Parts: sequence; structure tokens; C-alpha cells
Amino acid sequence: MKGSAITGPGGKGPSGMKCTACKAPAEIRLPSHNSKFCDPCFEKFFLNGVAKGLKMVGFPTDAPIAVAVSGGKDSLAVWDALSRLEIKTMGLHIYLGLGEFSDISAAAVENFARPRGLEYRIEKLDNIFGHPLTEVARATRLPTCSVCGTLKRSFINSLTVQAGFKAVATGHHLDDEAGRLMGNLIRHKDQYLDKFYPYLPSVHPAQAARIKPLFRLDQHEIRAYCRIREIEPAGGDGCPFSKGATSHYFQEAMEFLEGKMPGTKRDFLFTYLKSKEPPGDESFGTCLSCGQPTYGEKCGVCRLRERMEKNNRTPDG
Ligand code: AMP
Ligand code: ZN
Repeated sequence: MKGSAITGPGGKGPSGMKCTACKAPAEIRLPSHNSKFCDPCFEKFFLNGVAKGLKMVGFPTDAPIAVAVSGGKDSLAVWDALSRLEIKTMGLHIYLGLGEFSDISAAAVENFARPRGLEYRIEKLDNIFGHPLTEVARATRLPTCSVCGTLKRSFINSLTVQAGFKAVATGHHLDDEAGRLMGNLIRHKDQYLDKFYPYLPSVHPAQAARIKPLFRLDQHEIRAYCRIREIEPAGGDGCPFSKGATSHYFQEAMEFLEGKMPGTKRDFLFTYLKSKEPPGDESFGTCLSCGQPTYGEKCGVCRLRERMEKNNRTPDG
């Protein structure tokens, strides 16, 4: 694919390429930065990209961060990078109970964390919520992805706060953010654009700040970093429910433009972010049932519970 980090078979770049930083043979070409890097200089570039991202949005670069890890390449890479920047971290994985996909994901988290001596927790969704995801989707008659998103978001937050961390990181990267920005602009989703920022400070005592430290780095760069760092993400076919999300189309459209005009993704996102500040949100309140932060009177998790109970009382209704 035409993109930023182009590596040849086995990660070797075209012969004769020299590292822009140290003049050693280069492995990785980054057209969007007009640079070529050998592996050690690319690692520095990547870590610098993460540190710069934290600074750019005003997040303190020494604050401890919990990392929401799915077992995929993005969240493992962000965990690795933060811990190498000497930030105190704790990996947090929600085991969703979706058969082989979930088993492979949890194994990837453990296989990454154990040999590196990194602190982590794996929490089972049906233990925390009391019901497995498939049952929640069936009883609420809602799409599995939307139920999963609500539960994951809420429990990642509450487990982060319980563990004594004030901030949680996710593996969202430049392609995710540029694609999302494009989608929100095209669809005129002003309510999402208001809160579109890679750092959302906490606005409630029971809420952790949310940070996306990889927003300056794209998926090609993340793949190259994983190769160099010998990070082995979960293999397999990915989540059985994630197929067909429209967000992929916007990312593909961005990638097309990037191939024609290297640097477009970064310019598009960074220029937009420059005019913004970390958003506050006065409308946050406290869930009347459970005390978690919420917009309305009841949080999404409590509303799911109520919907399950109602539908279970009237199975055909
Ligand atoms: P996704 O929405 O699946 O693309 O995931 C976006 C981000 O959410 C990932 O990069 C992770 O940081 C986090 N995440 C996704 N799934 C899980 C999970 N099961 N447990 C913890 N964090 C997750
Ligand atoms: Zn609640």
C-alpha cells in the first residue's frame, strides 16, 4: 500500500537508501516526513512522536497512565512506547468472552506483558457486569458492537479509577483520528466535532482523563515499530462483529489521498487540532443508580441493565 512507512520483504528497504539521521543503511521510508530511517533511528522517531503528541495536547509527560489493551498491534505499541518513555503504566484488558477471538486477544496481552515485567489486569466482562456480552445483546435487542462499546468504555474508565490512575490511553492512531474527523465533517456531526480531541481531561471525580498518544503516528509506522520491538499482536480474523464499519471507508479515502499527496493525513488532522484546546464538558453529571459519570440521569450501563430487565419480563414485546 502507498503510505508512510514502506518496508520491503522482511522489513528491508530498497537497497542504497541511507538513514536521514545517521547515514546508516535505511530500512524504512517515510514519504510524509520526507525521511528514511534505519531501525534504531526509526525507534527514536516513533518514541519522539509519542512524547511530542503528549506535549502538543498539554498532557503531563510524567503522569502515570493506564493503557486499555485489546491485544492488537496499536494498543500493545502504545503500551510499549509509554513504558519506554519511563511513564508508569498498567495494562487493562477486558475479556469479552467472544470465543477464540477473546482467547487469542487475552493471550497476546499476557505474552506481551509477562516477559517485559509490565503490570496488567485482565477482567472478564461477565464477571464485572454479571452477564456475558452475547446475552446482553440478545436481551436488549441492540447490536453487539454498540453494547460492547458502551460496556467497554464504562468499565475501562471505572477500572482505571479503581486502580488509582487518573488517565487512560487507547491505541487510536493518526488514521483513526483523520478518518473520524473526515467522517464527522462530511456528515456535519457538530456535536462530535466539539469533543473531537486526542486528550479529554477528566470533568468528574469518577472519570479518568482519556488520551490517544499515537494520534501523530499512522498504522504503517506502528507496524514497523512492532516489527522492530518484536511485539506480537493477536493474530486471527479479529473481532467477529466488527466487519463493515463505515469508519473504514473514510480511512481508505484518506489513505488514497495520502498516496497521491504524502503528508495529507497529518496536515488535515494537525491543522484542525491547532485551532482547538482540550474540551471541557459542563454537562457531565452523576448516574442516579451507580454514581458513574454520565450525560443524562442514568449511565449507559444502567440503561442497558434496565432494558435487559424490561425485555426479559416481556420476552415477545
Ligand atoms: P477498537 O474500537 O476495537 O478499534 O479499539 C480501540 C481501542 O480501545 C484499542 O486501541 C484499545 O486501546 C481499546 N480496547 C479495545 N478493546 C479492548 C479490550 N477488550 N480491553 C481493553 N481495551 C480495549
Ligand atoms: Zn449507572
